[in-house]
Amino acid sequence: MLMFGKEKRWLGSIVLLSLFLAVMSGCSPSGAGPGSAASPRAGRETLVQVSTIDAIINGVYDGVISLGALKEYGDFGIGTLAGLDGEMIGFDGDFYQVRADGIAYPVTDAMETPFAAVTCFDCDYEVELPQISSYEELEQFLDAALPTDNIFYAIKIEGTFSYMKTRSVPRQEKPYPPLVEVTAYQPVFEFSDVAGTIAGFKSPAYVSGVNVPGYHLHFLTEDSSAGGHVLDFSVQEAVVSVDYTSEFLMILPGEDSDFYQLDLTQDRQAELEQAEK
Ligand code: ZN
Repeated sequence: MLMFGKEKRWLGSIVLLSLFLAVMSGCSPSGAGPGSAASPRAGRETLVQVSTIDAIINGVYDGVISLGALKEYGDFGIGTLAGLDGEMIGFDGDFYQVRADGIAYPVTDAMETPFAAVTCFDCDYEVELPQISSYEELEQFLDAALPTDNIFYAIKIEGTFSYMKTRSVPRQEKPYPPLVEVTAYQPVFEFSDVAGTIAGFKSPAYVSGVNVPGYHLHFLTEDSSAGGHVLDFSVQEAVVSVDYTSEFLMILPGEDSDFYQLDLTQDRQAELEQAEK
Protein backbone atom coordinates (compact mmCIF):
# COMPACT_ATOMS: atom_id res chain seq x y z
CA MET A 1 0.00 0.00 0.00
CA LEU A 2 1.39 3.40 -0.95
CA MET A 3 1.37 5.77 1.99
CA PHE A 4 1.80 9.50 2.04
CA GLY A 5 3.79 11.07 4.93
CA LYS A 6 0.88 12.66 6.75
CA GLU A 7 -1.03 9.40 6.57
CA LYS A 8 1.59 7.27 8.31
CA ARG A 9 -0.07 7.60 11.70
CA TRP A 10 -3.11 5.92 10.22
CA LEU A 11 -1.05 2.93 9.12
CA GLY A 12 -1.87 0.79 12.14
CA SER A 13 -5.60 1.27 11.93
CA ILE A 14 -5.61 0.91 8.15
CA VAL A 15 -3.70 -2.37 8.37
CA LEU A 16 -6.12 -3.68 11.01
CA LEU A 17 -9.08 -2.56 8.92
CA SER A 18 -7.59 -4.18 5.82
CA LEU A 19 -7.07 -7.44 7.70
CA PHE A 20 -10.63 -7.31 8.95
CA LEU A 21 -12.08 -6.55 5.50
CA ALA A 22 -9.88 -9.18 3.88
CA VAL A 23 -11.03 -11.86 6.29
CA MET A 24 -14.65 -10.78 5.91
CA SER A 25 -14.43 -10.92 2.11
CA GLY A 26 -12.78 -14.32 1.80
CA CYS A 27 -9.45 -12.91 0.59
CA SER A 28 -6.70 -13.70 3.05
CA PRO A 29 -4.51 -10.90 4.41
CA SER A 30 -1.59 -9.88 2.21
CA GLY A 31 1.98 -10.52 3.25
CA ALA A 32 1.12 -13.61 5.22
CA GLY A 33 3.31 -15.93 3.16
CA PRO A 34 2.42 -18.69 0.70
CA GLY A 35 -0.56 -19.71 2.82
CA SER A 36 -2.20 -16.36 2.11
CA ALA A 37 -3.56 -17.48 -1.25
CA ALA A 38 -7.18 -16.63 -1.94
CA SER A 39 -7.58 -20.28 -2.90
CA PRO A 40 -5.08 -23.13 -3.20
CA ARG A 41 -4.65 -22.36 -6.91
CA ALA A 42 -4.51 -18.55 -6.84
CA GLY A 43 -2.56 -16.05 -4.77
CA ARG A 44 -3.51 -12.51 -3.89
CA GLU A 45 -1.60 -11.21 -6.93
CA THR A 46 -3.44 -13.53 -9.33
CA LEU A 47 -5.98 -12.31 -11.83
CA VAL A 48 -8.48 -15.14 -12.12
CA GLN A 49 -10.35 -15.23 -15.40
CA VAL A 50 -13.50 -17.21 -16.20
CA SER A 51 -13.90 -18.24 -19.89
CA THR A 52 -12.67 -15.91 -22.66
CA ILE A 53 -13.93 -12.66 -24.15
CA ASP A 54 -14.12 -14.31 -27.58
CA ALA A 55 -16.45 -16.98 -26.15
CA ILE A 56 -18.74 -14.14 -25.01
CA ILE A 57 -18.45 -12.42 -28.40
CA ASN A 58 -19.57 -15.73 -29.94
CA GLY A 59 -22.58 -15.99 -27.62
CA VAL A 60 -21.45 -18.58 -25.05
CA TYR A 61 -23.44 -17.16 -22.13
CA ASP A 62 -24.09 -20.25 -19.96
CA GLY A 63 -22.77 -20.07 -16.40
CA VAL A 64 -19.32 -21.55 -15.80
CA ILE A 65 -18.91 -21.16 -12.03
CA SER A 66 -21.06 -19.86 -9.19
CA LEU A 67 -20.56 -16.43 -7.68
CA GLY A 68 -19.87 -18.18 -4.37
CA ALA A 69 -16.93 -20.01 -5.98
CA LEU A 70 -15.78 -16.91 -7.87
CA LYS A 71 -15.57 -14.91 -4.64
CA GLU A 72 -13.12 -17.48 -3.28
CA TYR A 73 -10.67 -16.11 -5.88
CA GLY A 74 -11.10 -12.42 -5.23
CA ASP A 75 -12.93 -9.57 -3.55
CA PHE A 76 -12.73 -7.33 -6.61
CA GLY A 77 -13.72 -7.75 -10.23
CA ILE A 78 -16.10 -7.39 -13.14
CA GLY A 79 -17.98 -9.64 -15.54
CA THR A 80 -21.49 -10.67 -16.46
CA LEU A 81 -24.09 -13.17 -15.21
CA ALA A 82 -25.40 -16.37 -16.82
CA GLY A 83 -27.51 -15.62 -19.91
CA LEU A 84 -25.62 -12.31 -20.28
CA ASP A 85 -27.91 -10.99 -17.56
CA GLY A 86 -26.40 -7.56 -16.95
CA GLU A 87 -23.05 -6.13 -15.92
CA MET A 88 -21.33 -7.37 -12.77
CA ILE A 89 -19.16 -5.26 -10.48
CA GLY A 90 -17.56 -6.19 -7.18
CA PHE A 91 -15.21 -4.50 -4.73
CA ASP A 92 -14.51 -4.85 -0.99
CA GLY A 93 -16.11 -8.30 -1.29
CA ASP A 94 -19.57 -7.06 -2.33
CA PHE A 95 -20.74 -7.99 -5.83
CA TYR A 96 -23.66 -6.42 -7.71
CA GLN A 97 -25.51 -7.11 -10.94
CA VAL A 98 -26.63 -4.06 -12.93
CA ARG A 99 -29.49 -5.41 -15.03
CA ALA A 100 -30.94 -3.97 -18.25
CA ASP A 101 -33.27 -1.77 -16.16
CA GLY A 102 -30.13 0.04 -14.92
CA ILE A 103 -30.75 -1.02 -11.32
CA ALA A 104 -28.03 -2.67 -9.24
CA TYR A 105 -29.02 -5.86 -7.42
CA PRO A 106 -26.81 -7.72 -4.92
CA VAL A 107 -25.79 -11.10 -6.38
CA THR A 108 -26.38 -14.38 -4.57
CA ASP A 109 -23.72 -17.09 -4.20
CA ALA A 110 -25.87 -19.48 -6.25
CA MET A 111 -25.90 -17.24 -9.34
CA GLU A 112 -23.41 -18.19 -12.07
CA THR A 113 -21.07 -16.24 -14.33
CA PRO A 114 -20.12 -17.09 -17.93
CA PHE A 115 -17.31 -14.48 -17.99
CA ALA A 116 -15.54 -12.65 -15.18
CA ALA A 117 -12.16 -11.50 -13.94
CA VAL A 118 -11.42 -11.12 -10.23
CA THR A 119 -8.47 -10.57 -7.93
CA CYS A 120 -7.78 -9.78 -4.29
CA PHE A 121 -7.34 -6.03 -4.33
CA ASP A 122 -4.19 -4.75 -2.62
CA CYS A 123 -3.40 -1.13 -3.39
CA ASP A 124 0.08 -0.63 -4.89
CA TYR A 125 -0.40 2.90 -6.21
CA GLU A 126 -2.81 5.62 -5.19
CA VAL A 127 -3.21 9.19 -6.39
CA GLU A 128 -5.83 11.90 -6.49
CA LEU A 129 -6.98 12.39 -10.06
CA PRO A 130 -6.92 15.79 -11.71
CA GLN A 131 -10.16 16.95 -13.32
CA ILE A 132 -10.53 14.53 -16.18
CA SER A 133 -13.12 15.15 -18.87
CA SER A 134 -13.24 11.85 -20.76
CA TYR A 135 -12.50 8.12 -20.61
CA GLU A 136 -9.66 8.76 -23.07
CA GLU A 137 -8.06 11.33 -20.74
CA LEU A 138 -8.14 8.82 -17.89
CA GLU A 139 -6.44 6.25 -20.12
CA GLN A 140 -3.71 8.75 -21.00
CA PHE A 141 -3.25 9.74 -17.35
CA LEU A 142 -2.94 6.15 -16.11
CA ASP A 143 -0.85 4.99 -19.09
CA ALA A 144 1.70 7.66 -18.11
CA ALA A 145 1.52 6.80 -14.39
CA LEU A 146 1.79 3.00 -14.57
CA PRO A 147 5.21 1.34 -14.86
CA THR A 148 4.59 -1.01 -17.82
CA ASP A 149 2.00 -1.99 -20.42
CA ASN A 150 2.80 -5.65 -19.92
CA ILE A 151 1.12 -6.70 -16.65
CA PHE A 152 -2.49 -6.61 -15.45
CA TYR A 153 -3.80 -3.78 -13.27
CA ALA A 154 -6.90 -3.80 -11.10
CA ILE A 155 -8.21 -0.24 -11.04
CA LYS A 156 -10.55 1.34 -8.51
CA ILE A 157 -11.68 4.97 -8.78
CA GLU A 158 -13.73 6.36 -5.90
CA GLY A 159 -15.21 9.84 -5.94
CA THR A 160 -17.68 12.09 -7.66
CA PHE A 161 -18.18 12.18 -11.38
CA SER A 162 -19.64 15.24 -13.09
CA TYR A 163 -20.70 12.92 -15.92
CA MET A 164 -21.08 9.16 -16.20
CA LYS A 165 -22.40 7.16 -19.14
CA THR A 166 -22.94 3.42 -18.73
CA ARG A 167 -24.73 0.60 -20.46
CA SER A 168 -26.07 -2.79 -19.53
CA VAL A 169 -27.25 -5.80 -21.51
CA PRO A 170 -30.57 -7.69 -21.36
CA ARG A 171 -30.68 -11.37 -20.39
CA GLN A 172 -30.69 -13.66 -23.44
CA GLU A 173 -32.49 -16.94 -24.17
CA LYS A 174 -31.10 -19.85 -26.18
CA PRO A 175 -30.14 -20.01 -28.97
CA TYR A 176 -27.92 -17.16 -27.82
CA PRO A 177 -27.16 -14.39 -30.34
CA PRO A 178 -23.60 -13.06 -30.72
CA LEU A 179 -22.65 -10.16 -28.43
CA VAL A 180 -22.74 -7.45 -31.14
CA GLU A 181 -26.40 -8.32 -31.86
CA VAL A 182 -27.21 -7.79 -28.17
CA THR A 183 -25.23 -4.57 -27.71
CA ALA A 184 -26.84 -3.06 -30.84
CA TYR A 185 -29.93 -2.55 -28.63
CA GLN A 186 -28.17 -1.95 -25.31
CA PRO A 187 -29.85 0.36 -22.78
CA VAL A 188 -27.63 3.36 -21.99
CA PHE A 189 -27.73 5.31 -18.72
CA GLU A 190 -26.42 8.81 -18.00
CA PHE A 191 -25.69 10.35 -14.61
CA SER A 192 -24.55 13.82 -13.62
CA ASP A 193 -22.76 14.80 -10.42
CA VAL A 194 -22.88 11.23 -9.18
CA ALA A 195 -20.82 9.72 -6.35
CA GLY A 196 -19.64 6.16 -6.73
CA THR A 197 -16.91 3.69 -7.59
CA ILE A 198 -15.43 2.57 -10.88
CA ALA A 199 -13.88 -0.90 -10.79
CA GLY A 200 -12.16 -2.83 -13.54
CA PHE A 201 -8.92 -3.78 -15.20
CA LYS A 202 -6.26 -2.66 -17.61
CA SER A 203 -5.01 -5.72 -19.47
CA PRO A 204 -1.98 -6.09 -21.77
CA ALA A 205 -2.46 -6.08 -25.56
CA TYR A 206 -1.29 -9.69 -25.73
CA VAL A 207 -4.47 -10.97 -24.02
CA SER A 208 -6.46 -10.18 -27.16
CA GLY A 209 -9.07 -12.93 -27.56
CA VAL A 210 -8.82 -13.90 -23.89
CA ASN A 211 -9.79 -10.67 -22.15
CA VAL A 212 -10.33 -7.05 -23.20
CA PRO A 213 -6.96 -5.48 -24.12
CA GLY A 214 -6.62 -2.06 -22.47
CA TYR A 215 -9.23 -0.68 -20.07
CA HIS A 216 -12.49 -2.41 -19.12
CA LEU A 217 -14.33 -0.57 -16.34
CA HIS A 218 -17.71 -0.90 -14.60
CA PHE A 219 -19.45 1.59 -12.29
CA LEU A 220 -21.61 1.44 -9.15
CA THR A 221 -23.21 4.46 -7.50
CA GLU A 222 -22.28 5.19 -3.88
CA ASP A 223 -25.73 4.07 -2.70
CA SER A 224 -25.32 0.81 -4.71
CA SER A 225 -28.52 1.55 -6.64
CA ALA A 226 -27.33 1.78 -10.26
CA GLY A 227 -24.31 1.56 -12.55
CA GLY A 228 -23.16 -0.50 -15.53
CA HIS A 229 -20.36 -0.96 -18.06
CA VAL A 230 -18.57 2.40 -18.38
CA LEU A 231 -18.75 4.07 -21.80
CA ASP A 232 -17.59 7.57 -20.86
CA PHE A 233 -17.21 9.82 -17.83
CA SER A 234 -15.63 12.94 -16.41
CA VAL A 235 -14.07 13.21 -12.98
CA GLN A 236 -15.01 15.97 -10.58
CA GLU A 237 -13.02 14.72 -7.60
CA ALA A 238 -11.71 11.18 -7.26
CA VAL A 239 -8.89 8.99 -6.00
CA VAL A 240 -7.60 6.14 -8.14
CA SER A 241 -6.09 3.04 -6.52
CA VAL A 242 -4.26 0.46 -8.60
CA ASP A 243 -3.28 -3.13 -7.77
CA TYR A 244 -0.36 -4.36 -9.89
CA THR A 245 -1.20 -7.94 -10.84
CA SER A 246 1.39 -10.22 -12.40
CA GLU A 247 -0.11 -13.70 -12.11
CA PHE A 248 -2.90 -15.13 -14.26
CA LEU A 249 -5.22 -18.13 -13.90
CA MET A 250 -7.94 -19.19 -16.35
CA ILE A 251 -11.04 -21.23 -15.61
CA LEU A 252 -12.51 -22.53 -18.87
CA PRO A 253 -16.04 -23.94 -19.39
CA GLY A 254 -16.54 -27.69 -18.99
CA GLU A 255 -17.19 -30.30 -21.66
CA ASP A 256 -20.98 -29.87 -21.49
CA SER A 257 -20.52 -26.27 -22.68
CA ASP A 258 -20.94 -24.91 -26.22
CA PHE A 259 -17.38 -23.67 -25.65
CA TYR A 260 -16.10 -27.12 -26.70
CA GLN A 261 -17.61 -26.85 -30.21
CA LEU A 262 -16.65 -23.20 -30.75
CA ASP A 263 -14.28 -22.07 -33.51
CA LEU A 264 -11.97 -19.66 -31.69
CA THR A 265 -9.42 -19.31 -34.51
CA GLN A 266 -10.88 -16.06 -35.85
CA ASP A 267 -9.72 -12.56 -34.84
CA ARG A 268 -12.71 -10.88 -33.14
CA GLN A 269 -11.09 -7.53 -32.25
CA ALA A 270 -13.35 -5.51 -34.57
CA GLU A 271 -16.46 -7.03 -32.95
CA LEU A 272 -14.96 -6.44 -29.51
CA GLU A 273 -14.44 -2.74 -30.30
CA GLN A 274 -18.04 -2.51 -31.48
CA ALA A 275 -19.47 -4.32 -28.45
CA GLU A 276 -17.44 -2.82 -25.62
CA LYS A 277 -16.89 0.85 -26.53
ZN1 ZN B 1 -18.17 -4.61 -19.23
